[in-house]
Parts: sequence; C-alpha cells; structure tokens
Amino acid sequence: MTHWSHGKIVHMVLYTPGSTTNYDSSPIEEGKFRYHFLGGGPEVGNVGCILEDSSGTRLQIDYGFVPKKPPTYPEEGPPVSDVILTHSHIDHVGLAPWVVASHGAKLHCTELTADVLEMIWRDTYKVSSIEGQPLPWDKRDLEEALDQIVTHPFDEWVEHGDWKWRFLPAGHIPGAAMVEIQLGERNILWSGDIDTRTSPCVVGAKPIKSDILFLESTYAGREQPDRESEVQRFLERVVEVVERGGTCLIPSFANGRGQDMLRYLWESNLDLDVHYDGMGKRILNHYLNHPDYIRDVDVFRKIKRWARLVSSKSDRKKAINADVIVTTSGMLDGGPAHWYLNRLRHDQRNAILLTGYQAEGSGGRQMLDDSRLKIFGKLVDINLEVDQFSFSNHADNPLLVDFAKQVCADDVILFHGNRDDGQELLKNELENEGMTIHQPENCQSYLL
Ligand SMILES: [Zn+2]
Ligand SMILES: [Zn+2]
Repeated sequence: MTHWSHGKIVHMVLYTPGSTTNYDSSPIEEGKFRYHFLGGGPEVGNVGCILEDSSGTRLQIDYGFVPKKPPTYPEEGPPVSDVILTHSHIDHVGLAPWVVASHGAKLHCTELTADVLEMIWRDTYKVSSIEGQPLPWDKRDLEEALDQIVTHPFDEWVEHGDWKWRFLPAGHIPGAAMVEIQLGERNILWSGDIDTRTSPCVVGAKPIKSDILFLESTYAGREQPDRESEVQRFLERVVEVVERGGTCLIPSFANGRGQDMLRYLWESNLDLDVHYDGMGKRILNHYLNHPDYIRDVDVFRKIKRWARLVSSKSDRKKAINADVIVTTSGMLDGGPAHWYLNRLRHDQRNAILLTGYQAEGSGGRQMLDDSRLKIFGKLVDINLEVDQFSFSNHADNPLLVDFAKQVCADDVILFHGNRDDGQELLKNELENEGMTIHQPENCQSYLL
C-alpha cells in the first residue's frame, strides 16, 4: 500500500486511513468556521479543502492531484462523510476514490461530471499502471467510488448536517460547478475553476451575493487577449498553413478545449477537412448525452457529424493528409499527437498550433524552448512552425475583480494560484474595494 503526505511518496507496510493527516479536529469556537487546504491553496492543482464549523458539520471540496512526472499530491485528509467534486479535471477529482476507500465518503457532483470522471479515473488507473507511477487507490476502490456518486442538478439545495449547499454553473468546462454553502447566518461561495465568459461549450459563471468567497486565482494579475481577436489570429494561421499545402496539428486537452477548437473551426465557415482524435471524442459524446450542461447542443450535434472522428488505424493514416487535426495531449505529453507529429515533422509546410499554456516540464514546453520533443522514447528535432494561442477557460484578473465585486464578500480567500506578483496585484485591487483578503497555506487551519 502506498502512503503519501506533503507531496512525498512513502511506501508503508501498514496503513491506517486518516491517522496521518495534519488536520486538527479539535472543536471550533461558537459561530466560527474553519477551513483547511489539503492542497491547492498557494498552487494551481492538487485541490482539496476541508470546511467545518462549531456544529461539527464537516465537508470536503475536491480531491485531485497533478499528473506530472513524478505526480504531486495534496495532504492526506481527515475522515469525512461527503465530498463535493466541482468538475472533472484530474487536479480536482483524481484522488476521490481514496476518500471513498478510506472513509466511505459519498461523492457529490453534477451528472455530466459523474460520467466524465469515470473515464478520467479509468484512464488515470491505466496510465499509472503502464508508467509505474504510484496511485493511492486501486481498481476496487475505483468501482466502490462509482457506487458512492450522488448527482445533483444546478440550483438544487442539498441538506448536510446544519448546512445546506447547492451547485451553480461555473463556466470553465461543461458540468463544472461553483458551490454555495449556507451555514447559519453566513453563506460561502466556492468558485471552483471559473470563467465568467461564455465559451463555445458553456455559458459563463454568474456571481451571487456571499459573505465569504473562495476565489480561484490561476490568472491573477494577468490579462488574456480578447477572445474574438485571438480566434481571428488562430483562423488566419490555419488558412495560411492549409493554403501552402500543409496540415495543422492542434494539440488540445480532451475535456473542453478540443471541443472549443472544433466549434471555432466549424463556425469559421472555412472549407476545412477537420479530423478529431483522442479521448475528447468520447467526452464529446458525454456532453451530447447531457444537453443541460452544454451551450447549443444542436450545434455540437452538427459538429460531431461534420468533423471526421478518427477511430481506427486507417482513419489515422487518412488524417495525416487532413487540413486540420485536433487531438490530445494538449501539452504534447503523449497521446495521438505524438503519432501524428512523428509523421508531420518531416514536411515543413505543416505547423503546430498550441491552444494554451505549456507547463514547465511538458513536451510542449520542451518543443517551444529547444525545438525538440521526446516521441516514443526518442528525442527528435521538430523543425516545424509553432504558434501558441491563449484559449484558457479561466477568468483573468479583470474578470476576477469584476466577479468578486459583484459577490460583495467581506472575506475573500485566494486559492488555486501561485503566490506571485500577479496574486499580489489581484489582492491589492480587491483590498481597494474594501474586501479582506486571505492567502492560505496548505496543511494549515484558519478560522473565520
Ligand atoms: Zn483546476
Ligand atoms: Zn479545471
């Protein structure tokens, strides 16, 4: 069995669930509320947080890890009966089976999140077995976790001890939710990962009045390019490459980004031969099965018929001559993108159009920095035109400030963001609006 804490992996012979958590379970003063980030406080990803008040009511929100090499994990959590999962990204749900196996917790999420997370968990399990990466849950835990899922539509109040809570749309990706929690006199708004802009797949998040706001801050201090002009710039580049006889490889995350890219291409009305490969195809099917969570489901039904879905080796060979290939992985860490690139790299008419941020240590980052990429275990030169676009589904600094102003909270807790100059900027702007800003560390309890 594997035990983990503070991001370090330690193999142990004996394993007592919950006995090694840092969480201080001592009673809380009347009228106070305690929060404790297991991870995801001063960092993007690894999200997990325990909320508790003097009535003894306790909830956990999210439990994920960052699947880099080696992966990073949040702290081990204390016993909980219920975990709310905001959305199906692995840095928010990747460890949820552990909480079920260790504490028998129920997992709450939207219906679409439930369908996608089953895929994400199975894929995570497969990848960790192939790569020999440690994972603190096994296949049996996964099956047990699936049995413990309870789904809720947006706006439905759920009783929990002395509290009640509900999901609200978060934008970001289909199925993603913010959480409003009513505890006694006060209410909390947990933003989850949010985008207040309407994207190709989802309608943007709308603020509600709250006393306490937990605000994600991935893009604190930064401004994103105007969406429309970025789409324009992207389409112009596609046309340029296609006109010179090349193929555009568009590496995109499977859950949200790929489908966004398909819609931009479809709406352009350009006469393009677009092929779609990777796990995103199955995720698109889940979106279509849950029309309530997706913007303009009919448009996506058309897109599914319009794009050529790659489902066999011969489809893949045909796609090599396409105008555009949209596929995983979004950061060129593997997936069909490597298979395509291994063939496309020999013809300089081809191009790679990156659709977002490329993290330190990712294949995409290495390619940008020194025009080389490790494909199937071999480091190869990539002498193709590479362009990078910003199609993030997170609210940037001006949008976060706008959102927080409308929430009108007295206290704002900044999480899911690095403690850098950008976050200081956001903090200052919010303080100027009269809000009290908190910047919690992981593995520490705070009272409000
Ligand atoms: Zn996130
Ligand atoms: Zn996310």
